[in-house]
Amino acid sequence: MRIVFLGAPGAGKGTQARRLEGRNGWPQVSTGDLLRSAVSAGTPLGRKAKAAMDAGELVSDQLVMQLLDERLRQADCNDGFILDGFPRSRSQARLLGELLGNSGQQLDAVLMLDVDTGILMKRLTGRRTCSATGKLLNIHFSPPEELAASRAAGGKLIQRDDDTEETIANRLAVYERQTRPLLEHYAHLLRRVDGLGAPGEVFERVLAALKPTLEAAPADG
Ligand code: AMP
Repeated sequence: MRIVFLGAPGAGKGTQARRLEGRNGWPQVSTGDLLRSAVSAGTPLGRKAKAAMDAGELVSDQLVMQLLDERLRQADCNDGFILDGFPRSRSQARLLGELLGNSGQQLDAVLMLDVDTGILMKRLTGRRTCSATGKLLNIHFSPPEELAASRAAGGKLIQRDDDTEETIANRLAVYERQTRPLLEHYAHLLRRVDGLGAPGEVFERVLAALKPTLEAAPADG
């Protein structure tokens, strides 16, 4: 199964894609995570990508495709994957089509998580990762017991460098300008899901939206 998760920054793509990976085994492939790893490892690609990421702009297609191509060649992606944060523009959608077409593959579904812009700002400014467990949390929305569990595990709540108000505003503008047009591009594969609510509730909607695709999938994925 090859699925794309579309949605604005903060819509919950990462959270939902990880849940789906946990349930069905297809790896979540996040270009944002791949880029952040390259930046923290100080690779030449990471050094080239950093300025665009800090400004909330898109990194060049060439750099992103290089990371993605390498990642999708790994064996765990053979039976499928969940793309999170890619493609983000029409040109990336075209490049993805070519990449998959070269190996006789195609996308099975594109899932759009719909969340009101006002909520996105609060979700993004409150977003933290627990340094001990790696869990994604939110200081405004996570249940107090989850925040307490992170403290009890000795975790620090780490904020992403690009989750500042100024960068967030630009990332939302970039989404509207460059990524939203993909809803039209993928109209034939698109399933829209209301992304408001607790992650568990949203995940139920995700599963319901993907049900026809999951049922139609061949046994080998
Ligand atoms: P994300 O974690 O998906 O919010 O991505 C964080 C940042 O990484 C974005 O604001 C971009 O600067 C960069 N990025 C992630 N995915 C892409 C992509 N598909 N194309 C270009 N830049 C990307």
